[in-house]
Amino acid sequence: MASPLSFKQLLAQILDAVDASGWQALILDSSKPFRLRLFRSNEKGFDVCIYIWNCTHGGSAARAKNEYRIQLTGVVPSAGLGETTLLLGWHSGYEVFVGFDIQKHDEQSSQSPSIQVKEETLQDAHSRAFSIHHRQNGEIAVAFRSEFLVEYALNAASLHLTGKAAINDMSLLNNLDMLTETQITKVKNQERQIILSQIARKYRTADFRKRVLGAYEHRCAACGIQLKLIDAAHIIPVAAATSTDETQNGIALCKLHHTAFDRNLLSFDEKYKIEISNAEVSRLAAENLVGGLKKFKQHLRTAIILPNDRRDYPLPQYIAEARKVRHWIQD
Ligand SMILES: [Zn+2]
Repeated sequence: MASPLSFKQLLAQILDAVDASGWQALILDSSKPFRLRLFRSNEKGFDVCIYIWNCTHGGSAARAKNEYRIQLTGVVPSAGLGETTLLLGWHSGYEVFVGFDIQKHDEQSSQSPSIQVKEETLQDAHSRAFSIHHRQNGEIAVAFRSEFLVEYALNAASLHLTGKAAINDMSLLNNLDMLTETQITKVKNQERQIILSQIARKYRTADFRKRVLGAYEHRCAACGIQLKLIDAAHIIPVAAATSTDETQNGIALCKLHHTAFDRNLLSFDEKYKIEISNAEVSRLAAENLVGGLKKFKQHLRTAIILPNDRRDYPLPQYIAEARKVRHWIQD
């Protein structure tokens, strides 16, 4: 059984989730509640205030077996003004967050210091990424996997909306793996349509990333390093009509080799041999930009590291197609 996290571990868990969401965080306040600024590369980002507790069963015999809860100890949640405030539970066993509507628990008194959630909600989020649950008090609880933390923070107000239409629309998130473009375009409310489409896209990206990084054991196929510096790259780029999210169209590459691959400095042939583009090197030489080339070459494997499972190997016809659409020129 996974044990509840300490206060410090909860913050670390949030930071991990931000990273898994593809964002970065500045810690503005590491006491309760946590205050973070979430941002991406050169963007300013947004501030978020996070109240978080472990989500546990608590063990009392009088309590229903499938009833979990967070206990609002130590600090009283306050919705605040003009900033995004989240009221979260974290369940270590299912490795999911559950978000409650902060407006419904604003200044919740110490006489009723807990909020319940059904185990099924946590289970569904664990296996399907997202789970929207209508609680008995009319509130919407939203459970989700780590990599959706930022999407949740950006859209918390809409996700917790009650009312039949809103609940119907957002419940589409309960089956993300089956959610189609057609279903999304049928959603009449435009804001909710945009949120659904963002989260569906995020789901596909996260799913591809998980499969590819898993297949390559989080190791760069070109140089072998891990260090959590690894991207899941598409062999045929997403922008091409022929691209797919199959693992066989993916390869794990470190940031350096991912960029080199996308810029056509580096490629690999249908027998997986790694190649450097002499044409690109000449172009760089003409601009006096070949510093470090020798070291760069030394760190490369002769052939890409292949996944353990043969079914995950890059498909030769995808490699050929990628070279065509990327206009790879070796000499
Ligand atoms: Zn590398």
